[in-house]
Amino acid sequence: MLNNSPESMARAVVEACADCDVCRYLMDDTPCLVFPEIYRLYDKEAEKRGRITPEELRNLVGLCNFCALCPCPNVRSDLMKAKDALIDRDGIKPAVRFLEDVERVATVCGAYPWLSNTLLGNAFTGRLMKRAAGIHAERNFPAFPRENFSVWAQKRGLHIRREGKGRKIAYFAGCTGRYLFPGVPIAVSEVLERNGIEVYYPEQKCCGMPSLLEGDRGFTLKLAAFNVERLTEVVEAGYDIVCSCPTCGYMLKSVLSEGASHAAIFSESIRRPNSRPDTSGATSGPGRASTAPPGKPIFEGLFKDEGYFSNIDARKRILMATHTYDLGEYLSALHLSGELDAGLGSVEAHMAYYPPCHLREQKIGEPWVDLLRLAPGISLEKIDGSFHCCGIAGIMGFKRDFHEISVKIGSRLIKRIEAIHPERLVTDCLSCRLQFNQLTAYKVFHPVEILWEAYTSSGNG
Ligand code: SF4
Ligand code: SF4
Repeated sequence: MLNNSPESMARAVVEACADCDVCRYLMDDTPCLVFPEIYRLYDKEAEKRGRITPEELRNLVGLCNFCALCPCPNVRSDLMKAKDALIDRDGIKPAVRFLEDVERVATVCGAYPWLSNTLLGNAFTGRLMKRAAGIHAERNFPAFPRENFSVWAQKRGLHIRREGKGRKIAYFAGCTGRYLFPGVPIAVSEVLERNGIEVYYPEQKCCGMPSLLEGDRGFTLKLAAFNVERLTEVVEAGYDIVCSCPTCGYMLKSVLSEGASHAAIFSESIRRPNSRPDTSGATSGPGRASTAPPGKPIFEGLFKDEGYFSNIDARKRILMATHTYDLGEYLSALHLSGELDAGLGSVEAHMAYYPPCHLREQKIGEPWVDLLRLAPGISLEKIDGSFHCCGIAGIMGFKRDFHEISVKIGSRLIKRIEAIHPERLVTDCLSCRLQFNQLTAYKVFHPVEILWEAYTSSGNG
């Protein structure tokens, strides 16, 4: 094996984690399938029961769903790099290429939703379509709505910037919301407008997480470049970016900006005091100052922007990241500053709230827990997100060769939900909703749908 082969890269991860050994605790009763395999492979070789084979290393790379439960970001990013190298060398399967282009799937199937739903719902044609698209036979495909969010937003005029003087946001709705669950982005728009915030729905593409997880670097970079360009433009016009999908938020805030502060433009500003690049926009959202990354001359030259997205303008990536908010984070800050409309009516229900993996990665706490408790009548039981994952992992859970693994990863969380036996299951991640719809009979809601219900039940909605 060549040193830079995907197998060698995966082997380097096995060796690093075996040397460190801290994550052996992730072998038992956690949703991560990578660490049990890392230590199984390492122990096999250490106990002289056989060499780790190239095939085992390739399989290991396919087990990571980027849930970020593990302590070392470089370990998961090294696994992703190995996956990229595998795709670069061996190519991507046509079915994966089709599925990872979530917008294209949604545009094709959503053009005639009645026809798509009938064909997918029929046992015979549904099976044929799933087989052609590389989807596991037992994976349910969600029904396509009569009208997607983009059509609704256009009718409502949200695609036009009104450039008001008050708070204004550019809404990044995410593909699952836009094309499969339009009720969620509609509730987002209603809740924000009710709070006097101008909502602008800019042109946008998929955040890129599904293709990133599939190791399709070229396609991911294309999507990212488009979004960075459009979103920095609106930030420069005075808008903050709000995401209702934690995965999109994690991509825009953290993944895309990784390494950007090491770019030459910042090294240059460190050399010349008071010339730090201006990453500030015209506004700063509620409760967060606009930030430029700190620099210390002592590190000059040591760091380079060698991240996944380093060929996209670092200043723009940082500008976008520092002006992006999770919806719960944004509403929570409004609440703290006394600007949130507190006219919430009662919603009588026992709810279980699952904070998704990519919300935890944003390190903003769990803003929805307090926000939902503002509405009378809600009894909310929170699930500990640190040791649970739904297992869907973008489109991975749909794929023939990952569906069963995905169900296995999610089974621990499902048991926990069943122990609560809620009247409503609440999570802000719509991919988790797809998995919950597959594995449970509970009605699943985004917290903003509950908040909108509370506003409308107050009689002033
Ligand atoms: S992920 Fe980090 S902490 Fe865990 S075993 Fe690997 S190197 Fe150690
Ligand atoms: S990102 Fe999740 S699946 Fe991947 S290694 Fe870390 S804990 Fe395991």
